[in-house]
Amino acid sequence: MVNHVESTDNKKILIFEEPSSPSAVYTEALRSNGFNPRVSSEPDKGLKIISSWHPSLVLLNLYSVDSKTIQLLREIRQMHTTRRPSIMVISDNQGEDNLDTMLAEGADDVITHSVSGEELCSRVKQRLKKTGDVKHFKTDKDNLHSLLEITSAITTSLNPSEVFKTIVTRVAEATGAERCSIVLVTKTEGYVLASHDAPGLKDQKIDLAKYPEITEAIKTKDPMIVEDIATSPLMDGVKDSVQGLEGQSLLLVPVVFNDTVLGTLFLRTKKESGGFTEEEVDFCRIVANSSFHAIKNAQVFQKLTEENSYLQEAAIRDQLTGLYNHNHFYLRLDEDFMRATRYRTPLSLIMMDIDNFKSINDTYGHRTGDIVLKELAIMVKDTVRKSDLVARYGGEEFAIILPHTALEGAAGEAERLRKIIEGYKFRELSHDMSVTMSLGVAAFPDKAREIASSGDLVSKADEALYAAKHGGRNRTVVHGRDD
Ligand code: GH3
Ligand code: MG
Ligand code: MG
Repeated sequence: MVNHVESTDNKKILIFEEPSSPSAVYTEALRSNGFNPRVSSEPDKGLKIISSWHPSLVLLNLYSVDSKTIQLLREIRQMHTTRRPSIMVISDNQGEDNLDTMLAEGADDVITHSVSGEELCSRVKQRLKKTGDVKHFKTDKDNLHSLLEITSAITTSLNPSEVFKTIVTRVAEATGAERCSIVLVTKTEGYVLASHDAPGLKDQKIDLAKYPEITEAIKTKDPMIVEDIATSPLMDGVKDSVQGLEGQSLLLVPVVFNDTVLGTLFLRTKKESGGFTEEEVDFCRIVANSSFHAIKNAQVFQKLTEENSYLQEAAIRDQLTGLYNHNHFYLRLDEDFMRATRYRTPLSLIMMDIDNFKSINDTYGHRTGDIVLKELAIMVKDTVRKSDLVARYGGEEFAIILPHTALEGAAGEAERLRKIIEGYKFRELSHDMSVTMSLGVAAFPDKAREIASSGDLVSKADEALYAAKHGGRNRTVVHGRDD
Protein backbone atom coordinates (compact mmCIF):
# COMPACT_ATOMS: atom_id res chain seq x y z
CA MET A 1 0.00 0.00 0.00
CA VAL A 2 1.27 3.45 -0.83
CA ASN A 3 0.30 5.87 1.77
CA HIS A 4 1.08 9.41 2.41
CA VAL A 5 1.48 9.68 6.14
CA GLU A 6 -0.19 6.91 8.14
CA SER A 7 1.86 4.73 10.42
CA THR A 8 1.62 1.00 10.73
CA ASP A 9 -0.77 -0.63 13.16
CA ASN A 10 1.02 -2.64 15.79
CA LYS A 11 -1.12 -5.12 17.70
CA LYS A 12 1.60 -6.63 19.83
CA ILE A 13 1.02 -6.59 23.56
CA LEU A 14 3.38 -8.02 26.12
CA ILE A 15 1.87 -9.09 29.43
CA PHE A 16 4.11 -9.39 32.49
CA GLU A 17 2.28 -11.57 34.95
CA GLU A 18 2.91 -12.65 38.50
CA PRO A 19 2.05 -16.29 39.28
CA SER A 20 -0.52 -15.14 41.78
CA SER A 21 -2.15 -12.94 39.19
CA PRO A 22 -2.94 -15.06 36.09
CA SER A 23 -3.72 -13.36 32.80
CA ALA A 24 -5.68 -15.98 30.84
CA VAL A 25 -8.88 -13.97 30.83
CA TYR A 26 -7.10 -10.86 29.52
CA THR A 27 -5.09 -12.79 26.96
CA GLU A 28 -8.26 -14.37 25.60
CA ALA A 29 -10.10 -11.07 25.40
CA LEU A 30 -7.18 -9.32 23.71
CA ARG A 31 -6.80 -12.10 21.19
CA SER A 32 -10.47 -12.09 20.28
CA ASN A 33 -10.24 -8.32 19.82
CA GLY A 34 -7.57 -8.75 17.20
CA PHE A 35 -4.52 -8.12 19.39
CA ASN A 36 -1.43 -10.27 19.50
CA PRO A 37 -0.70 -10.89 23.21
CA ARG A 38 2.36 -12.61 24.58
CA VAL A 39 2.90 -13.50 28.23
CA SER A 40 6.08 -13.49 30.28
CA SER A 41 6.40 -14.17 33.96
CA GLU A 42 10.14 -13.54 34.23
CA PRO A 43 11.21 -9.88 34.19
CA ASP A 44 14.58 -10.54 32.51
CA LYS A 45 13.02 -12.47 29.66
CA GLY A 46 10.25 -9.92 29.35
CA LEU A 47 12.73 -7.08 28.93
CA LYS A 48 14.47 -9.01 26.17
CA ILE A 49 11.15 -9.56 24.42
CA ILE A 50 10.47 -5.82 24.49
CA SER A 51 13.76 -5.00 22.83
CA SER A 52 13.43 -7.62 20.10
CA TRP A 53 9.67 -7.91 19.56
CA HIS A 54 8.76 -4.20 19.93
CA PRO A 55 5.28 -4.45 21.46
CA SER A 56 3.19 -1.32 21.30
CA LEU A 57 1.87 -1.86 24.80
CA VAL A 58 3.17 -3.56 27.93
CA LEU A 59 0.66 -4.75 30.48
CA LEU A 60 2.00 -5.27 33.99
CA ASN A 61 -0.44 -7.65 35.60
CA LEU A 62 0.61 -7.45 39.25
CA TYR A 63 -0.69 -8.88 42.41
CA SER A 64 0.71 -5.95 44.30
CA VAL A 65 2.92 -2.98 43.62
CA ASP A 66 6.23 -3.11 45.46
CA SER A 67 9.77 -1.87 45.00
CA LYS A 68 10.52 -4.73 42.61
CA THR A 69 7.67 -3.86 40.27
CA ILE A 70 8.55 -0.18 40.41
CA GLN A 71 12.10 -1.13 39.46
CA LEU A 72 10.77 -3.16 36.51
CA LEU A 73 8.71 -0.20 35.35
CA ARG A 74 11.78 1.99 35.53
CA GLU A 75 13.85 -0.49 33.53
CA ILE A 76 11.27 -0.66 30.76
CA ARG A 77 11.24 3.11 30.48
CA GLN A 78 15.02 3.34 30.38
CA MET A 79 15.34 0.86 27.55
CA HIS A 80 16.66 2.25 24.29
CA THR A 81 14.06 0.89 21.93
CA THR A 82 12.97 2.30 18.63
CA ARG A 83 9.37 1.86 19.78
CA ARG A 84 8.29 3.41 23.03
CA PRO A 85 5.65 1.03 24.38
CA SER A 86 2.68 2.28 26.33
CA ILE A 87 2.60 0.80 29.81
CA MET A 88 -0.57 -0.19 31.62
CA VAL A 89 -0.56 -1.54 35.15
CA ILE A 90 -3.29 -3.80 36.53
CA SER A 91 -3.05 -4.01 40.28
CA ASP A 92 -5.42 -4.00 43.23
CA ASN A 93 -2.94 -2.77 45.76
CA GLN A 94 -2.51 0.71 44.40
CA GLY A 95 -2.68 3.12 47.29
CA GLU A 96 -2.15 6.83 46.76
CA ASP A 97 1.65 6.64 47.03
CA ASN A 98 2.04 3.65 44.76
CA LEU A 99 -0.21 5.19 42.15
CA ASP A 100 1.85 8.38 42.11
CA THR A 101 5.11 6.49 41.92
CA MET A 102 3.93 4.28 39.07
CA LEU A 103 2.72 7.23 37.04
CA ALA A 104 5.92 9.12 37.81
CA GLU A 105 8.01 6.18 36.66
CA GLY A 106 6.25 6.09 33.32
CA ALA A 107 3.07 4.04 33.61
CA ASP A 108 0.47 5.47 31.26
CA ASP A 109 -2.58 3.95 32.88
CA VAL A 110 -3.34 2.13 36.10
CA ILE A 111 -6.42 -0.06 36.58
CA THR A 112 -7.69 -2.69 38.99
CA HIS A 113 -8.46 -6.34 38.51
CA SER A 114 -12.11 -5.57 38.71
CA VAL A 115 -12.08 -4.77 34.97
CA SER A 116 -13.45 -7.41 32.66
CA GLY A 117 -11.56 -8.66 29.65
CA GLU A 118 -13.69 -6.53 27.36
CA GLU A 119 -13.23 -3.44 29.51
CA LEU A 120 -9.51 -3.96 29.44
CA CYS A 121 -9.60 -4.20 25.64
CA SER A 122 -11.39 -0.91 25.30
CA ARG A 123 -8.87 0.73 27.71
CA VAL A 124 -6.05 -0.70 25.59
CA LYS A 125 -7.63 0.59 22.39
CA GLN A 126 -8.13 4.01 23.96
CA ARG A 127 -4.54 4.07 25.09
CA LEU A 128 -3.17 3.11 21.68
CA LYS A 129 -5.38 5.63 19.97
CA LYS A 130 -4.14 8.33 22.30
CA THR A 131 -0.51 7.59 21.58
CA GLY A 132 -1.32 7.13 17.89
CA ASP A 133 0.53 3.86 18.31
CA VAL A 134 3.67 5.80 17.66
CA LYS A 135 6.99 4.27 18.26
CA HIS A 136 9.35 6.09 20.53
CA PHE A 137 10.58 8.88 18.33
CA LYS A 138 13.16 10.46 20.59
CA THR A 139 12.24 13.41 22.72
CA ASP A 140 11.53 16.74 21.10
CA LYS A 141 14.78 18.00 22.55
CA ASP A 142 16.79 15.30 20.80
CA ASN A 143 15.08 15.99 17.50
CA LEU A 144 15.68 19.68 17.85
CA HIS A 145 19.32 18.94 18.52
CA SER A 146 19.56 16.82 15.35
CA LEU A 147 17.84 19.53 13.35
CA LEU A 148 20.21 22.17 14.68
CA GLU A 149 23.20 20.05 13.76
CA ILE A 150 21.83 19.52 10.28
CA THR A 151 21.03 23.18 9.69
CA SER A 152 24.34 24.32 11.09
CA ALA A 153 26.17 21.83 8.83
CA ILE A 154 24.15 23.18 5.91
CA THR A 155 24.98 26.80 6.66
CA THR A 156 28.61 26.46 7.75
CA SER A 157 30.10 23.70 5.63
CA LEU A 158 31.22 24.57 2.14
CA ASN A 159 31.71 20.96 1.31
CA PRO A 160 28.40 19.39 0.25
CA SER A 161 29.71 15.87 0.96
CA GLU A 162 30.05 16.81 4.63
CA VAL A 163 26.57 18.32 4.68
CA PHE A 164 24.96 15.25 3.18
CA LYS A 165 26.87 12.93 5.49
CA THR A 166 25.57 14.89 8.49
CA ILE A 167 22.02 14.83 7.16
CA VAL A 168 21.85 11.08 6.50
CA THR A 169 23.60 10.19 9.75
CA ARG A 170 21.40 12.40 11.92
CA VAL A 171 18.17 11.42 10.17
CA ALA A 172 19.03 7.72 10.45
CA GLU A 173 19.79 8.19 14.15
CA ALA A 174 16.59 10.09 14.82
CA THR A 175 14.33 7.66 12.95
CA GLY A 176 16.19 4.40 13.54
CA ALA A 177 16.06 3.76 9.77
CA GLU A 178 18.17 0.91 8.42
CA ARG A 179 19.13 2.99 5.43
CA CYS A 180 18.99 6.71 4.90
CA SER A 181 20.17 8.22 1.64
CA ILE A 182 19.88 11.48 -0.23
CA VAL A 183 19.34 11.08 -3.93
CA LEU A 184 19.84 13.88 -6.42
CA VAL A 185 17.47 13.60 -9.34
CA THR A 186 17.75 14.74 -12.91
CA LYS A 187 15.28 14.02 -15.71
CA THR A 188 16.07 10.33 -16.04
CA GLU A 189 18.76 9.61 -13.54
CA GLY A 190 19.48 9.78 -9.87
CA TYR A 191 22.76 10.16 -8.02
CA VAL A 192 23.26 9.00 -4.46
CA LEU A 193 24.70 12.04 -2.69
CA ALA A 194 25.18 10.16 0.59
CA SER A 195 24.03 6.97 2.25
CA HIS A 196 24.50 6.58 5.99
CA ASP A 197 25.21 2.84 6.10
CA ALA A 198 26.96 2.47 2.75
CA PRO A 199 29.51 5.20 2.02
CA GLY A 200 30.46 3.26 -1.12
CA LEU A 201 27.16 4.23 -2.71
CA LYS A 202 28.20 7.88 -2.80
CA ASP A 203 28.02 9.38 -6.28
CA GLN A 204 26.59 6.15 -7.63
CA LYS A 205 24.32 6.71 -10.57
CA ILE A 206 20.93 5.03 -10.35
CA ASP A 207 18.47 4.35 -13.13
CA LEU A 208 15.18 5.90 -12.02
CA ALA A 209 13.24 3.35 -14.07
CA LYS A 210 14.31 0.80 -11.46
CA TYR A 211 13.07 2.95 -8.57
CA PRO A 212 9.31 3.43 -9.09
CA GLU A 213 8.97 4.81 -5.55
CA ILE A 214 11.40 7.64 -6.31
CA THR A 215 9.65 8.34 -9.61
CA GLU A 216 6.32 8.44 -7.79
CA ALA A 217 7.65 10.84 -5.13
CA ILE A 218 9.05 13.09 -7.85
CA LYS A 219 5.66 13.08 -9.53
CA THR A 220 3.58 13.85 -6.44
CA LYS A 221 6.22 16.11 -4.81
CA ASP A 222 4.86 14.87 -1.47
CA PRO A 223 6.25 12.64 1.25
CA MET A 224 5.24 9.06 0.64
CA ILE A 225 5.33 5.82 2.58
CA VAL A 226 5.50 2.38 1.00
CA GLU A 227 4.32 0.12 3.81
CA ASP A 228 5.77 -3.13 2.56
CA ILE A 229 8.26 -3.02 -0.26
CA ALA A 230 7.64 -6.62 -1.29
CA THR A 231 3.85 -6.49 -1.50
CA SER A 232 3.26 -2.92 -2.68
CA PRO A 233 1.71 -2.83 -6.20
CA LEU A 234 3.93 0.17 -6.89
CA MET A 235 6.92 -2.17 -6.84
CA ASP A 236 5.32 -4.81 -9.11
CA GLY A 237 7.60 -3.97 -12.02
CA VAL A 238 10.76 -4.43 -9.95
CA LYS A 239 9.80 -7.54 -7.96
CA ASP A 240 13.16 -9.18 -8.57
CA SER A 241 15.24 -6.35 -7.22
CA VAL A 242 13.21 -6.01 -4.01
CA GLN A 243 13.52 -9.65 -3.07
CA GLY A 244 14.76 -10.02 0.48
CA LEU A 245 13.22 -6.71 1.51
CA GLU A 246 9.96 -8.31 2.63
CA GLY A 247 8.43 -6.55 5.59
CA GLN A 248 10.46 -3.37 5.09
CA SER A 249 8.94 0.04 4.62
CA LEU A 250 10.14 3.04 2.64
CA LEU A 251 9.75 6.71 3.29
CA LEU A 252 10.43 9.16 0.49
CA VAL A 253 10.54 12.86 1.24
CA PRO A 254 11.13 14.94 -1.89
CA VAL A 255 13.29 18.06 -1.70
CA VAL A 256 11.34 20.65 -3.67
CA PHE A 257 12.51 24.07 -4.80
CA ASN A 258 10.44 26.39 -6.98
CA ASP A 259 8.07 23.53 -7.70
CA THR A 260 10.96 21.44 -9.00
CA VAL A 261 12.09 18.26 -7.27
CA LEU A 262 15.86 18.47 -6.76
CA GLY A 263 16.18 15.22 -4.93
CA THR A 264 14.69 13.07 -2.25
CA LEU A 265 15.41 11.71 1.18
CA PHE A 266 15.14 7.94 1.00
CA LEU A 267 14.62 5.94 4.17
CA ARG A 268 14.11 2.23 4.63
CA THR A 269 13.17 0.51 7.85
CA LYS A 270 11.81 -2.78 9.15
CA LYS A 271 8.03 -2.75 9.24
CA GLU A 272 7.92 -4.72 12.47
CA SER A 273 9.92 -2.03 14.21
CA GLY A 274 6.97 0.25 13.61
CA GLY A 275 7.40 1.52 10.07
CA PHE A 276 7.41 5.31 9.86
CA THR A 277 5.38 7.60 12.02
CA GLU A 278 3.83 10.96 11.34
CA GLU A 279 6.41 12.63 13.59
CA GLU A 280 9.22 11.10 11.58
CA VAL A 281 7.66 12.22 8.33
CA ASP A 282 7.38 15.75 9.75
CA PHE A 283 10.96 15.65 10.95
CA CYS A 284 12.18 14.53 7.52
CA ARG A 285 10.04 17.17 5.87
CA ILE A 286 11.82 19.88 7.87
CA VAL A 287 15.19 18.37 6.98
CA ALA A 288 14.22 18.16 3.31
CA ASN A 289 13.01 21.76 3.33
CA SER A 290 16.29 22.97 4.71
CA SER A 291 18.35 20.79 2.37
CA PHE A 292 17.46 22.31 -0.96
CA HIS A 293 20.21 24.93 -0.70
CA ALA A 294 22.77 22.22 -0.03
CA ILE A 295 21.55 20.17 -2.98
CA LYS A 296 21.60 23.22 -5.24
CA ASN A 297 25.12 23.95 -3.98
CA ALA A 298 26.10 20.34 -4.62
CA GLN A 299 25.08 20.70 -8.25
CA VAL A 300 27.12 23.89 -8.64
CA PHE A 301 30.04 22.49 -6.63
CA GLN A 302 30.06 19.31 -8.71
CA LYS A 303 30.11 21.32 -11.93
CA LEU A 304 32.83 23.66 -10.69
CA THR A 305 35.01 20.81 -9.46
CA GLU A 306 34.71 19.10 -12.81
CA GLU A 307 35.47 22.31 -14.71
CA ASN A 308 38.26 23.19 -12.34
CA SER A 309 40.04 19.89 -12.61
CA TYR A 310 39.55 20.03 -16.36
CA LEU A 311 41.12 23.50 -16.46
CA GLN A 312 43.94 22.48 -14.15
CA GLU A 313 44.72 19.51 -16.31
CA ALA A 314 44.42 21.51 -19.54
CA ALA A 315 46.94 24.05 -18.20
CA ILE A 316 49.71 21.48 -17.95
CA ARG A 317 49.02 19.45 -21.07
CA ASP A 318 49.98 19.92 -24.67
CA GLN A 319 46.83 19.99 -26.78
CA LEU A 320 48.03 18.04 -29.78
CA THR A 321 49.77 15.13 -28.11
CA GLY A 322 48.26 15.10 -24.62
CA LEU A 323 51.79 14.99 -23.18
CA TYR A 324 52.86 17.36 -20.41
CA ASN A 325 53.84 20.76 -21.76
CA HIS A 326 57.14 22.61 -21.61
CA ASN A 327 56.21 24.57 -18.45
CA HIS A 328 55.14 21.54 -16.53
CA PHE A 329 58.26 19.71 -17.65
CA TYR A 330 60.46 22.38 -16.05
CA LEU A 331 58.40 22.43 -12.90
CA ARG A 332 58.72 18.67 -12.46
CA LEU A 333 62.38 18.61 -13.44
CA ASP A 334 63.14 21.24 -10.76
CA GLU A 335 61.30 19.20 -8.15
CA ASP A 336 62.99 15.98 -9.19
CA PHE A 337 66.40 17.63 -9.24
CA MET A 338 65.91 18.94 -5.73
CA ARG A 339 64.82 15.49 -4.56
CA ALA A 340 67.84 13.89 -6.27
CA THR A 341 70.32 16.23 -4.58
CA ARG A 342 68.63 15.96 -1.16
CA TYR A 343 68.34 12.17 -1.13
CA ARG A 344 71.39 11.48 -3.29
CA THR A 345 69.42 9.50 -5.84
CA PRO A 346 70.27 9.47 -9.56
CA LEU A 347 68.17 11.38 -12.08
CA SER A 348 68.36 11.11 -15.86
CA LEU A 349 67.02 13.07 -18.77
CA ILE A 350 66.51 12.03 -22.38
CA MET A 351 65.99 14.69 -25.05
CA MET A 352 64.79 13.39 -28.39
CA ASP A 353 64.05 15.02 -31.74
CA ILE A 354 62.47 13.62 -34.89
CA ASP A 355 64.91 13.35 -37.76
CA ASN A 356 64.10 15.35 -40.88
CA PHE A 357 60.56 15.96 -39.79
CA LYS A 358 60.35 18.84 -42.17
CA SER A 359 60.49 16.44 -45.09
CA ILE A 360 57.57 14.44 -43.66
CA ASN A 361 55.54 17.63 -43.55
CA ASP A 362 56.67 18.53 -47.02
CA THR A 363 55.82 15.13 -48.45
CA TYR A 364 52.57 14.30 -46.65
CA GLY A 365 51.34 17.66 -45.50
CA HIS A 366 51.23 19.32 -42.11
CA ARG A 367 48.07 17.52 -41.03
CA THR A 368 49.63 14.11 -41.57
CA GLY A 369 52.72 15.44 -39.79
CA ASP A 370 50.47 16.24 -36.81
CA ILE A 371 49.03 12.74 -36.78
CA VAL A 372 52.49 11.17 -36.89
CA LEU A 373 53.62 13.44 -34.05
CA LYS A 374 50.65 12.48 -31.94
CA GLU A 375 51.02 8.76 -32.61
CA LEU A 376 54.70 8.92 -31.80
CA ALA A 377 54.01 10.77 -28.56
CA ILE A 378 51.51 8.14 -27.44
CA MET A 379 53.92 5.35 -28.35
CA VAL A 380 56.76 6.92 -26.36
CA LYS A 381 54.50 7.46 -23.37
CA ASP A 382 53.25 3.87 -23.48
CA THR A 383 56.78 2.50 -23.80
CA VAL A 384 58.43 4.16 -20.80
CA ARG A 385 57.85 3.30 -17.14
CA LYS A 386 54.89 4.86 -15.34
CA SER A 387 57.26 6.73 -13.05
CA ASP A 388 58.97 8.44 -16.00
CA LEU A 389 57.56 11.73 -17.20
CA VAL A 390 57.24 12.42 -20.93
CA ALA A 391 56.78 16.00 -22.13
CA ARG A 392 56.53 17.72 -25.45
CA TYR A 393 59.58 19.94 -25.16
CA GLY A 394 59.24 21.72 -28.48
CA GLY A 395 57.72 21.25 -31.95
CA GLU A 396 58.90 17.71 -32.69
CA GLU A 397 61.08 17.33 -29.65
CA PHE A 398 60.24 15.28 -26.56
CA ALA A 399 61.89 15.12 -23.15
CA ILE A 400 61.74 12.24 -20.69
CA ILE A 401 62.55 12.64 -17.00
CA LEU A 402 63.67 9.36 -15.43
CA PRO A 403 63.73 9.62 -11.63
CA HIS A 404 65.90 7.13 -9.70
CA THR A 405 67.65 6.20 -12.93
CA ALA A 406 71.43 6.42 -13.48
CA LEU A 407 73.19 7.10 -16.79
CA GLU A 408 73.48 3.53 -18.09
CA GLY A 409 69.86 2.72 -17.33
CA ALA A 410 68.70 5.84 -19.16
CA ALA A 411 71.05 5.12 -22.10
CA GLY A 412 69.60 1.62 -22.38
CA GLU A 413 66.07 3.02 -22.27
CA ALA A 414 66.92 5.59 -24.98
CA GLU A 415 68.29 2.90 -27.29
CA ARG A 416 65.28 0.69 -26.70
CA LEU A 417 62.99 3.58 -27.63
CA ARG A 418 65.05 4.48 -30.71
CA LYS A 419 64.78 0.94 -32.04
CA ILE A 420 61.04 0.69 -31.40
CA ILE A 421 60.45 3.98 -33.24
CA GLU A 422 62.69 2.96 -36.11
CA GLY A 423 60.72 -0.25 -36.58
CA TYR A 424 57.27 1.31 -36.23
CA LYS A 425 55.07 1.53 -39.30
CA PHE A 426 52.80 4.55 -39.42
CA ARG A 427 49.50 3.95 -41.17
CA GLU A 428 49.59 7.47 -42.56
CA LEU A 429 52.97 7.05 -44.25
CA SER A 430 54.05 4.78 -47.08
CA HIS A 431 55.06 1.31 -46.03
CA ASP A 432 58.77 1.68 -46.67
CA MET A 433 58.93 4.97 -44.85
CA SER A 434 60.20 4.92 -41.29
CA VAL A 435 60.44 7.75 -38.83
CA THR A 436 63.62 7.96 -36.80
CA MET A 437 64.72 10.04 -33.87
CA SER A 438 67.99 11.24 -32.44
CA LEU A 439 68.42 11.07 -28.69
CA GLY A 440 70.66 12.76 -26.15
CA VAL A 441 71.05 11.40 -22.61
CA ALA A 442 72.47 13.02 -19.47
CA ALA A 443 72.35 11.99 -15.84
CA PHE A 444 72.93 13.47 -12.41
CA PRO A 445 75.29 12.95 -10.68
CA ASP A 446 77.80 12.93 -13.55
CA LYS A 447 81.43 11.80 -13.34
CA ALA A 448 82.87 15.16 -14.40
CA ARG A 449 80.59 16.99 -11.92
CA GLU A 450 79.53 19.44 -14.58
CA ILE A 451 75.86 19.12 -13.69
CA ALA A 452 74.86 21.18 -10.67
CA SER A 453 71.32 22.24 -11.57
CA SER A 454 68.28 21.14 -13.54
CA GLY A 455 69.32 23.69 -16.20
CA ASP A 456 72.73 21.99 -16.50
CA LEU A 457 71.02 18.63 -16.95
CA VAL A 458 68.93 20.02 -19.83
CA SER A 459 71.98 21.64 -21.47
CA LYS A 460 74.03 18.45 -21.30
CA ALA A 461 71.20 16.28 -22.69
CA ASP A 462 70.67 18.90 -25.41
CA GLU A 463 74.38 18.89 -26.28
CA ALA A 464 74.25 15.11 -26.56
CA LEU A 465 71.18 15.36 -28.85
CA TYR A 466 73.02 17.89 -31.02
CA ALA A 467 75.94 15.50 -31.21
CA ALA A 468 73.58 12.69 -32.28
CA LYS A 469 72.25 14.87 -35.11
CA HIS A 470 75.76 15.71 -36.20
CA GLY A 471 76.85 12.15 -35.91
CA GLY A 472 74.36 11.17 -38.62
CA ARG A 473 70.94 11.04 -36.83
CA ASN A 474 68.91 7.97 -35.75
CA ARG A 475 71.29 7.42 -32.84
CA THR A 476 71.71 7.92 -29.13
CA VAL A 477 74.55 9.99 -27.65
CA VAL A 478 75.21 9.74 -23.94
CA HIS A 479 76.77 12.69 -22.13
CA GLY A 480 79.97 11.83 -20.28
CA ARG A 481 80.47 8.46 -21.96
CA ASP A 482 83.60 8.08 -24.09
CA ASP A 483 82.10 6.72 -27.29
P1 GH3 B 1 66.38 17.44 -37.88
O1 GH3 B 1 65.67 17.61 -36.59
O2 GH3 B 1 66.66 16.05 -38.19
O3 GH3 B 1 67.58 18.31 -37.94
O4 GH3 B 1 65.44 17.92 -39.03
P2 GH3 B 1 64.02 18.52 -38.85
O5 GH3 B 1 63.42 18.78 -40.18
O6 GH3 B 1 63.21 17.71 -37.98
O7 GH3 B 1 64.41 19.78 -38.07
P3 GH3 B 1 63.91 21.26 -37.94
O8 GH3 B 1 64.08 21.74 -36.57
O9 GH3 B 1 64.67 22.05 -39.00
O10 GH3 B 1 62.41 21.27 -38.29
C1 GH3 B 1 61.44 20.83 -37.40
C2 GH3 B 1 60.17 20.72 -38.18
O11 GH3 B 1 59.16 20.14 -37.42
C3 GH3 B 1 59.69 22.08 -38.62
C4 GH3 B 1 58.22 22.08 -38.37
O12 GH3 B 1 57.48 22.29 -39.52
C5 GH3 B 1 57.94 20.71 -37.86
N1 GH3 B 1 57.06 20.80 -36.77
C6 GH3 B 1 57.26 21.31 -35.54
N2 GH3 B 1 56.13 21.23 -34.80
C7 GH3 B 1 55.19 20.65 -35.58
C8 GH3 B 1 53.84 20.31 -35.41
O13 GH3 B 1 53.23 20.53 -34.37
N3 GH3 B 1 53.20 19.70 -36.43
C9 GH3 B 1 53.83 19.43 -37.61
N4 GH3 B 1 53.13 18.83 -38.58
N5 GH3 B 1 55.09 19.78 -37.80
C10 GH3 B 1 55.78 20.35 -36.82
MG1 MG C 1 63.83 17.45 -35.97
MG1 MG D 1 63.61 20.14 -33.73
